[in-house]
Amino acid sequence: MDQKIIQIHDKKFEPFIKFAEIDKAVAKIADRMNEDLHDKKPLFLAILNGSFMFASDLFHKIDFPCEITFVKLASYSGTKSTETVRQLIGIDEDIVGRNVVIIEDIIDSGLTMERVLAQLKMIGAADIKIATLLFKPNSFKGKYPIDYVGLEIGDDFIVGYGLDYDKHGRNFKDIYKIVES
Ligand code: 5GP
Ligand code: MG
Repeated sequence: MDQKIIQIHDKKFEPFIKFAEIDKAVAKIADRMNEDLHDKKPLFLAILNGSFMFASDLFHKIDFPCEITFVKLASYSGTKSTETVRQLIGIDEDIVGRNVVIIEDIIDSGLTMERVLAQLKMIGAADIKIATLLFKPNSFKGKYPIDYVGLEIGDDFIVGYGLDYDKHGRNFKDIYKIVES
């Protein structure tokens, strides 16, 4: 039996999406981008850490002139509110007037992306497109369009292909879903 359950810290995860299916979804996004963006000289902006594998595999399949850079979201608590502020750090390219394509691993509630969008608009990006490998439509509360979605999934917590559970599990080639106990 190759339905292998894996253990990360205190949780068990079961096989959910095989790499072959992930690869097909990435290829579909790349095909669309190769049509839509071939004359836009976009700047791909991958959000670390989770999106590094998706960004790499996607970038391999892009055949037009473009740039890529990597940013992180630093979480810190505001001095007055208990709400966590997530600020983009590491933008060293001049994104003013650029066609930016955000590369994200997963969009859940959509709040993180909303913050990223607001910051990129403030800095002065000309056009912003969003690409996410995974999308949880039942949880999404955003009001903005997501231009490129690899796979829609349910609300379950997943790991693998770059995504972690408490820093572990990013190295799995396939995606695994949590086994509720
Ligand atoms: P959102 O702000 O859209 O609710 O959440 C986005 C972030 O939450 C993602 O970038 C990711 O870090 C994390 N996240 C949401 N769902 C999952 C999941 O199923 N697995 C993992 N590993 N992270 C998730
Ligand atoms: Mg992420």
